Amino acid sequence: MIYDAIILGAGAAGLMCAATAGARGRRVLVLDHATHAGEKIRISGGGRCNFTNIHCTPKNFLSENPRFCISALSRYTPQDFIALVQRYNITYHEKTLGQLFCDHSSRQIVQMLLDECAHHGVTIQMQQSITDVQHRDGKFIIQCASSHEVQSDNLILATGGLSIPKMGATGFAYDVAKKFGLRIVPTRAGLVPFVSDDATLSQMKPLAGIAFASIATHGKVHFEEASLITHKGLSGPAILQISSYWREGDAIALNLAPHHNVATMLKDARTTSPKQEVLSVLSTLLPKRLAQFLLEQIGMSGTCAELSNTHCDKIAQQVHHWLYHPATTEGYRTAEVTLGGIDTRDLSSQTMEATNVRGLYCIGEAVDVTGHLGGFNFQWAWASGYAAGMAL
Ligand SMILES: Cc1cc2nc3c(=O)[nH]c(=O)nc-3n(C[C@H](O)[C@H](O)[C@H](O)COP(=O)(O)OP(=O)(O)OC[C@H]3O[C@@H](n4cnc5c(N)ncnc54)[C@H](O)[C@@H]3O)c2cc1C
Repeated sequence: MIYDAIILGAGAAGLMCAATAGARGRRVLVLDHATHAGEKIRISGGGRCNFTNIHCTPKNFLSENPRFCISALSRYTPQDFIALVQRYNITYHEKTLGQLFCDHSSRQIVQMLLDECAHHGVTIQMQQSITDVQHRDGKFIIQCASSHEVQSDNLILATGGLSIPKMGATGFAYDVAKKFGLRIVPTRAGLVPFVSDDATLSQMKPLAGIAFASIATHGKVHFEEASLITHKGLSGPAILQISSYWREGDAIALNLAPHHNVATMLKDARTTSPKQEVLSVLSTLLPKRLAQFLLEQIGMSGTCAELSNTHCDKIAQQVHHWLYHPATTEGYRTAEVTLGGIDTRDLSSQTMEATNVRGLYCIGEAVDVTGHLGGFNFQWAWASGYAAGMAL
């Protein structure tokens, strides 16, 4: 069998690319080493798949080359994916901040993509370990462990990033890209919980399970969402978002009472309720145990009447600008995404084709384009898969 395109990876980007190219009459083969296609889609969004975000813009993505994603994102928009979802009668809802989730199950999205592939004559072969990729006389020759060899004019790398190795994630796309002379932007775990150092951990462990409203800031970037204290450190949407910007040794600042002015509150309380404990004033804004922890950290206690202006400002600084120094992150073991990857300087932003290797395409998470939390990573998988699928 001669194929026009061989796609390595039956994940979000690979399946979208396969269905798009198949719909254009291309003979497409998808190879994947896992047992089932689209496993990350299946487990995503707590089983409901946050499949896109209606507020998606290029600003929701990190890359060494922030303009690279503009073209693909503008040619396959959230509305395009929503239209596909509607065509399959999959019901969905907006949870928060433009994030769209299936009403029932993420399996519906996997099945939709598989149906699209089947409808357009795409061949999908699972449990295929790829042992070698060669390029001879303009043809890509793929060798599988099952000892069969397949050839094609076009090869699409869609094997994703390094996050969650337990699910079969590998650095395969990077290895093949390097073999063809493409550069790799160093990778690191993104959208990942923080781990505290031992001293912080022993102080914070009793607070595990406490969630609170927050604004997490790193440099000029901030996210206003919930945070969560875990047995290992910090997690929750605000923390996952800011983790993508964090570098080893950095601190992050947390505003634990957004939309309140703690200094003014305490200064007023000195006259309106002087006998009230400072802790009980803070407990109107924060979970009590967290308020107590913050006060203990700066050695403050007592009643409002005892507070000087300096004390009020010190407590306000602690609540509005609490500095947290993560020791590290939980790493690829639990990261939702991999930052970095195949360098976009070596790819066409229109087609995802390698500029120096005709017929080699790179799509999805393997590429140095990483979205914020909230459906952006799938939107990039759909858009980059579509761009390549239209170009093959
Ligand atoms: C727990 C979790 C929840 C998430 N939730 C969301 C969400 O709700 N919304 C969102 O937008 N994003 C979410 N993401 C991120 C999203 O899943 C990824 O960004 C997206 O799946 C990337 O698509 P991809 O096709 O590039 O890679 P993947 O979907 O990872 O697909 C890669 C495929 O390649 C195969 N493969 C890997 N190595 C090899 C190899 N050596 N040989 C053969 N095949 C190989 C894998 O088996 C896999 O099928 C989540 C991620 C995780 C881990």
